[in-house]
Formats: sequence, C-alpha cells, structure tokens
Amino acid sequence: MSNQLLNFIGGSWARSSAADYLDVINPATAQALTTVPLSPGAEVDAAVAKASEAFVEWRRTPSGERIQPLFKLKMLMEEHRNELARIVSNECGKTYNESQGELQRAIENIEVACGIPMLMQGYNNEDIASGIDEHMIRQPLGVVAAITPFNFPAMIPLWFLPYAVATGNCFILKPSEKVPMSSQKLFELIEQAGFPAGVLQLVNGGKETVDALLDHPGVRAISFVGSTPVAKYIYSRAAANGKRAQCQGGAKNPVVIMPDADMEMTTKIMADSAFGCAGQRCLAASVAITVGAAQDQFIEYIADVASSRKVGYGLNDGVEMGPVIDPNSKARIEGLIGKGQQEGAKLVVDGRNKKVSGYEDGYFVFPTVLDHVPPQGDIAKTEIFGPVLSVMRATDVDEAVRLVNDRAYGNMACIFTGSGSVARKFRYEADAGNIGINIGVAAPMAYFPFSGWNESFFGDLHAQGRHGVEFYTQTKVVVERWPREWSRQF
Ligand code: NAD
Repeated sequence: MSNQLLNFIGGSWARSSAADYLDVINPATAQALTTVPLSPGAEVDAAVAKASEAFVEWRRTPSGERIQPLFKLKMLMEEHRNELARIVSNECGKTYNESQGELQRAIENIEVACGIPMLMQGYNNEDIASGIDEHMIRQPLGVVAAITPFNFPAMIPLWFLPYAVATGNCFILKPSEKVPMSSQKLFELIEQAGFPAGVLQLVNGGKETVDALLDHPGVRAISFVGSTPVAKYIYSRAAANGKRAQCQGGAKNPVVIMPDADMEMTTKIMADSAFGCAGQRCLAASVAITVGAAQDQFIEYIADVASSRKVGYGLNDGVEMGPVIDPNSKARIEGLIGKGQQEGAKLVVDGRNKKVSGYEDGYFVFPTVLDHVPPQGDIAKTEIFGPVLSVMRATDVDEAVRLVNDRAYGNMACIFTGSGSVARKFRYEADAGNIGINIGVAAPMAYFPFSGWNESFFGDLHAQGRHGVEFYTQTKVVVERWPREWSRQF
C-alpha cells in the first residue's frame, strides 16, 4: 500500500491536491499505517462530473449486463478475502474472525443486488379503462453518494454501492477517514471488475468533502451511516438541498433477560454482543435488563465471561477482542464508566487502565460490567460505543418493556426467554426497528432492510434489500391509450 492513499475518479487513481493529510493509525499498536487526504470540494466536483457523464450510458445498459461486473466483484472479494480481513483488522482493530464475518456480510449485499433484474421490476394494470393500460417503472436517480463510519469499513460501503449501481446509478463513496484502507483495496478490486469509468468513484476526506457532496446540485441522493448528531446534520442539509437521504445514526441497545432464559447460552451470546468488536457495533447489546430471578445468576455469569475475555491485537491467535478506535474513544469510554459509578452504579468488572503486553501503546479498554445502573442516569441513555455492559433490574416484563422503550434510540431491542407469549408481547411492543428473540445481534440479512427507528435513523427507506432498490430508484407511472379500433385498419 502506498504511503498516501489515492482517490479513484473517472476510472483512474488520482493523487489528491489536499492541503491536509491525516495519519491512519493501527489502534492496537498506535503506529501509522498510511496517510489519507482530506480532499477539497474541487475533487468532489470532478467526481460528480465524471459520474454524470458515465450515467448517460450506464442507465441505458440492460440490468442483466449491469450486474455482470458485480458478479466479478463478488468473486474478486472472495479471492482477496483474507487480505481484506487483515486490512480491516489492522486499521479498525477487530479480530481476524470478526473481520471475516464483516466480509461475509459485505459480499452478501453484492449477491442480493445481482438479483436486480427481478428486484427492480415495476407493476402494471391492463384496462384501467377500455383500451387504457397503466404501468409503473423504476428508473435510476443519477449520481448518488454514501458517507460511511469507522466501525465496519468493508461492510457498510456495500450496504449501498451494489444496489446503487445495479439499479443504474453512478455512485461516489466517501469512506471514514479513520479507516480508508479497506475502501482503497475494495476499489482496486472494482477497477478489475469491469465497471465503466465513472460508474464507481472513491473520494477520501472529512467534513469539507462531505459538505461538497451535500451541496452539489448534481448529487441526487445521500446515504449515511455514523453518529446521531452527524446523521441529523446530513439529513437536514441534504433535504434542504432537495436530495433524498437515508441517514443511520447511533444506538443504545437494550436486551431483556427473563428468568426462564437458558442462562448459559444467554450469557455467552450477551458477552459476544456487548464485547464483540470491542462494543463498537451499532447492534451491540449495551443495556441488560434482568427480570426477577434472572438477576443474580446473570451478573455472576457475565462477570465471569467479561473478566476472562482475551484482549489484544486482533491478528494474534486466540484474541477475542481488540482495541477501540482511537485515544479519544478510549478516554470518552473510560470517562463514562467513571460517570456511571458517580451516578450510583456498581462496577462489577472494571476494564479501565489495563495494558496488553507487547502492545502497551494500543487503545485498549477491557470488558466492563456495571450493575444497578439507574435508569434515569446519563450512563443508561448515552451511547458508549465501547465494551461496557450496563445492567438494570426489572420486577416483571411490563417494567422491562417500559425500560426498553424509555430511550431516544431505536436501533435494536432483544429478549431472551423460553416463553412464546412473552416473546410475542416483546416483538409487538418494543420501540425499535430490529428485534432479536434469543438473539444478541439482530443484524438483518442483506435481503432485509436495516430498520433503525427514532434517533437511530432519519429518512424513510433503510439500507439493504428492497428498501435499497426503492431508495435508488424513482417511480414513473405511464398511462397509455390504444383504442381497439385503431388496429382494425390492418
Ligand atoms: P461519525 O458520525 O463520526 O462519522 C461518520 C462519517 O461522517 C465519517 O465518514 C466522517 O468523515 C463524517 N463526518 C463526521 N463528522 C462530520 C461532520 N461534522 N460533518 C460532515 N461529515 C462528518 O461516526 P463514526 O464515529 O465514524 O461511527 C460510529 C457511529 O456510527 C456510532 O454512533 C454508531 O452507532 C454509528 N453506526 C450506526 C450504524 C447504524 O446502522 N445505525 C452502523 C454503524 C455505525
């Protein structure tokens, strides 16, 4: 990998004219891996111009032909999967297995988008009146862009990219400046996959680059994943500029544990959910709400698995959890743990101020468990985005559901129980878009929408599946009259 990352504009790699470059840091070692340009607005202008040119022919390319380079990209990603996984682990800190899991989810989105000839079909009625038919057809929007976060550098760009181009749009990616190397590799594969120049482009950068995309009149739609304040900002600025927007924000995911849950299985799944990817998942279990007799046993078990989890450099054998992304995150997470204590929570497992031998400079926070977290405190409501599980107690399922719904976010809510009736009540009443029943990370497969609600999502149509197809197409309705008599003359 070169020492300076490049942009991919109009089918060629281009060095940015950026005045500023940022170091990309391996969070396990605190060593710089490369540098990334903060591309100026002029480079967004160049990408939009190339995309607009390419759109003229790309939208006319039959959908069955548009998906051929996507099939090729899937094969290339499979071939380079191990290399991609190592890049994700190095720039993002995940374990190798977690990076492999992320790639699986990324590839699945390409597979689903390869069904576009059927997925983007419209519908019609013959004879809405005598000799008059009506059709709905889906057409692409034009140039669209996605702005993605640090925590899934290989997967989240592919929540959007395959659907956008399969439906006939031209797509610009602005990846997170903290983890841009996965996208650089993805675009090396895209270059080999055979897309026409300008159909897929990569512009690295930060806020200035994002603002240029939001303000450019040639960009028709914006897809965003990241924190809630930035999601709100992007949603409102895109909308003010007349663009479609789908903006996925932060999360604080509650999980109810009923007394009839299989406690051994539940605890293992909860530990994977809360501490997997160092808690930096928008579907991480963040608050456990134990009901009745579940309380004491859950705390005992979870404390045990939390304190025995092996933390370290994600590419080393046996490591179960890596570092958090940067020193600011580490300081913020450790500060929130302290705040929880001040609010009256009991620190059962303390993951602060721990070092990993051989990686003393890494940004490690070890698994942490806080019990008796007061429901009205900050720690109960704030997204921590680190390996911290807060435990609350409820006397019955009604109180548990009230606690689940007493929060601003709505990305995911889960329940562990052996009762179908309790599970159904929960599924019905929980105020979140992704629900898990005896599941710790209720991540929708690529053919389902990633359905965040409330402060976790701004927009109408989510990422993935049919929502992706609808987001990237506009419906056109055609009413046509062909009177019978006109054919009688032949
Ligand atoms: P972030 O909001 O800091 O950054 C996301 C993207 O926005 C990056 O590309 C960044 O360059 C850009 N950006 C940041 N600040 C900006 C600004 N002021 N103006 C314009 N652009 C700006 O998020 P992050 O720290 O990279 O990611 C973590 C967050 O993402 C967490 O809150 C997590 O819950 C959320 N997330 C949500 C989902 C979901 O599906 N809901 C999935 C993954 C991550």
